[in-house]
Amino acid sequence: IRYKEGQGWHNPTIEARAPIALDPAAAVLHYAQEIFEGMKAYRAADGGVVMFRPDANARRFHQSAERMAMAPLPDALFLEAVRELVKVDRDWIPSGESASLYLRPFMIANEAFLGVKPSAEYLFIVIASPVGAYFSGGAVSVWVSEDYTRAAPGGTGAAKCGGNYAASLLAQREAKAQNCDQVLFLDAAEHRWIEEMGGMNIFFVMKDGTLVTPPLGGTILPGITRDALLTLARDKGLTVREERYSIEQCYEDAASGRLVEAFACGTAAVVTSIGRFRGQRGEIVIGAGNGADPVTEGLRDALIGIQRGQRPDPYGWVQRVD
Ligand code: PMP
Repeated sequence: IRYKEGQGWHNPTIEARAPIALDPAAAVLHYAQEIFEGMKAYRAADGGVVMFRPDANARRFHQSAERMAMAPLPDALFLEAVRELVKVDRDWIPSGESASLYLRPFMIANEAFLGVKPSAEYLFIVIASPVGAYFSGGAVSVWVSEDYTRAAPGGTGAAKCGGNYAASLLAQREAKAQNCDQVLFLDAAEHRWIEEMGGMNIFFVMKDGTLVTPPLGGTILPGITRDALLTLARDKGLTVREERYSIEQCYEDAASGRLVEAFACGTAAVVTSIGRFRGQRGEIVIGAGNGADPVTEGLRDALIGIQRGQRPDPYGWVQRVD
């Protein structure tokens, strides 16, 4: 779907995937005016097609557009575009526990000019691809990035814009070089408060059953999975605290046995146990270190059950597409 100032959103089409033409002076290529979303369509137990909280993705996309001074796409248009593509691609939606159709809605500024100002033309596109599990099972290892931060106060950390990910690639490469699966970012000001991972939010489980997750302070992506887990955990009777948690405290609590589980969550990772943290202050194993984490598993089962339409959905999160 195209946008032009004065003309609004126009020309929606569904086409076979192919390269697109961009003017070499298109604003996105120079000033990174780009935002995106990540969401999944699932094959439900009865063979139907469902999506998990697509309205929350539409809302976040809208907020990202505002932060990046881009044309706001009405939520209804975002949802219609995603739904129509899912319907066309419905035969590509795999069944099976960890398979789904991944959807990537994104928007780029494609007006051609040189000069730093918001573009007056945009292109909104959705692409789709079948995917399997993001991690192969068990627990992941996490590299604590002390040298690089992902987002600064007043910056774009709460928006899902490509630039945030560009800024995180070097830290992700460092994590791989250290034999870790993922990178963990600390805050930009003090380099001690745990924020989030490369493409996931993070939770900690204390011995007394309390869950702790960093608060959304403008530098963390407000994950839809994170939000759902806060509700699911509270409804399971767990105490959940959104509060700052430092990396020193994390190492200390893991050593003393107060911290018993940690997990990453997101559309791609769903809920994945973290087995160990590694970084400049050494390595620390969390709980069993092998993914056998009962609280994490309970929350994962509850979430997947709802997403796949196998459990009741009192929250109205699951929407049928067909
Ligand atoms: N943080 C970052 C940086 C991410 O890229 C993602 C994935 N969108 C998340 C957290 C998790 O968000 P969600 O649960 O909405 O997928």
